[in-house]
Amino acid sequence: MAFEGLADRLQNTMQKIRGKGKVSEADVKEMMREVRLALLEADVNFKVVKDFVKKVSERSIGQEVMKSLTPGQQVIKVVKEELTELMGGEESKIAVANRPPTVIMMVGLQGAGKTTTTGKLANLLRKKYNRKPMLVAADIYRPAAIKQLETLGKQLSMPVFSLGDQVSPVEIARQAIAKAKEDHHDYVLIDTAGRLHIDEKLMDELKEIKEISNPNEIFLVVDAMTGQDAVNVAQSFNELLGLTGVVLTKLDGDTRGGAALSIRAVSNTPIKFVGLGEKLDALETFHPERMASRILGMGDVLTLIEKAQANVDEEKAKELEKKMRTASFTLDDFLEQLGQVRNMGPLDELLKMMPGANKIKGLDNLQVDEKQISHVEAIIQSMTKEEKEHPEIINASRRKRIAKGSGRTVPEVNRLLKQFEDMKKMMKQMTGMQQKGKKKGGFK
Ligand code: GDP
Repeated sequence: MAFEGLADRLQNTMQKIRGKGKVSEADVKEMMREVRLALLEADVNFKVVKDFVKKVSERSIGQEVMKSLTPGQQVIKVVKEELTELMGGEESKIAVANRPPTVIMMVGLQGAGKTTTTGKLANLLRKKYNRKPMLVAADIYRPAAIKQLETLGKQLSMPVFSLGDQVSPVEIARQAIAKAKEDHHDYVLIDTAGRLHIDEKLMDELKEIKEISNPNEIFLVVDAMTGQDAVNVAQSFNELLGLTGVVLTKLDGDTRGGAALSIRAVSNTPIKFVGLGEKLDALETFHPERMASRILGMGDVLTLIEKAQANVDEEKAKELEKKMRTASFTLDDFLEQLGQVRNMGPLDELLKMMPGANKIKGLDNLQVDEKQISHVEAIIQSMTKEEKEHPEIINASRRKRIAKGSGRTVPEVNRLLKQFEDMKKMMKQMTGMQQKGKKKGGFK
């Protein structure tokens, strides 16, 4: 994940000032020197760094901090607020046209991830906002682009409007919007052509598409790995085309994160989404405050909760809660739980969103062994229905059969059964305690 270096350095700096009962001007100066270096090293634009340091210094030496009872913490609060502000303050919403369809033009240089992001965004619009998007293949120059979008459309079971590569992109856009109206699509996502560099011909074409399609949003897709280049590209596109938002891709790589921290300030365009992987669900709404919180090691509990809500079926959760209370939780339930946690994404990424996670030694290098989970799943799947409901009947010969069926060893089967038993015991104790507590409180 991006920002690791920056997060480490900023958190070390903050640590020094956190508990201070008194913060002098010299302390602030010393801290800001370190913050400045950390930001520059993360490839944040130097003008942005200068402004940021100035603002934080002024506020930190000001009344609001010096006179407070906990000046150390106040300084950190100032840093967090300014970091949030730098990345755009409030998160920005995606436009909705008064009269559908809402038209979104996707633009960007080749290789930035434009076509992939078009698919991801359509997926997000449908999944999160219940919309019915249509994709439009208007990149007629890159030989494989139309095919790529069509493949994405198939994966998503979503229509892709294409007229091949012999019709002009402007005409494609015009006909696509008419077709979307006819078919009652509420969003139209136009995948336009990219180039290796910004050139006049490309810009003229994009301007024409803009004119004919009158888009509600023009999103520029930029690659976070290209650092300051991404910032420059955003600035140029904004000047020539007038952007409404940026999608920053490949933030899952080990980019230093400078682009994310500079784009808003330099190009005056908010980051609306970030790409965090190649899969179609790896696109997230960009929340400046949550990102600032993550960088400063305060965790990102909101995202974690949202992920859980999106992946856990409420009815099932209630049922599960009841089973836990009545201690009738079976191995099948356990299997289902594993599946739900897995759907939330890679476990090590989830763990890193916990507050203070960066303070846990070794978490950086932690690779949660997803294989282990598959092994547990394989073992449970090799059991019969009866065994899953009444694991106490699993004797030595059954254990041998289960091990063989799942391709695991008998000790592994034993370990899993033991863990499951322990878990059930714990549940019993907990519900016992709850009931006692209730009695004390006077409930029947
Ligand atoms: P385009 O030329 O801008 O349309 O770029 P593509 O959509 O073809 O993407 C170029 C490459 O970047 C592909 O291999 C994508 O899978 C990959 N890619 C796109 N977005 C992301 C992302 O957020 N993370 C990662 N790791 N790869 C991405």
